Amino acid sequence: RFISLEGGEGVGKSTQLAALAEALRGRGLTALVTREPGGSPGAEAIRRLLLEGEETRWNPRAEALLFAAARSDHVEKTIKPALEKGEWVLSDRFLDSSLAYQGEAGGLGIEAVRDLHRFGSLDFLPDRTLVLVLDESEGALRARARDGHLGDRIGSRPPSYHAAVEAGFRAMAEREGDRVKLVDASGSAATVTARLLYTLGDLIS
Ligand code: C5P
Repeated sequence: RFISLEGGEGVGKSTQLAALAEALRGRGLTALVTREPGGSPGAEAIRRLLLEGEETRWNPRAEALLFAAARSDHVEKTIKPALEKGEWVLSDRFLDSSLAYQGEAGGLGIEAVRDLHRFGSLDFLPDRTLVLVLDESEGALRARARDGHLGDRIGSRPPSYHAAVEAGFRAMAEREGDRVKLVDASGSAATVTARLLYTLGDLIS
């Protein structure tokens, strides 16, 4: 099974991904934890182009192409081989991040980003996508940014960008039907992990 975990900045994705992998392993399953952008040597090289270096502020189209190229390599070199071995693959972000960030917030539109995914990864999709959401106003996002806790590593994108990302994820859950599930990210880490496992219940049995 291929599961992606999504969400805006600072919702606890990485912690939850590790906990989820532990829980699956506790049920006797083999779980590979990976991330995007990255997850294969080529895609990690592209990650560095995207996230490192003050000078690299890519234009929105170039940014979307780099994410799509990284994902293509990640799918071919890491995700598909693991699935073929019967492993579970848990990815920290996948296509839906691109739809929300580059498509919705970045202004390219969902269809353009989806087209890049069709070309780059033959529209390969997760069996389930879990989106961690916090009920947060744009004001709260702004406060988090001011305190330096927004954690955006791609650069100084404004709180309004991150509010659009959040809205994008919520719209995705409605549009994509059963594949995408919103999961409340508030409460203790253990509570959130339990919620995530519950939403995977039908796949684990
Ligand atoms: O998941 P993580 O927070 O490590 O993501 C790394 C950075 O890449 C984040 O700052 C996120 O905003 C950015 N990103 C993005 N578009 C994507 C995926 C990640 O801007 N499609």
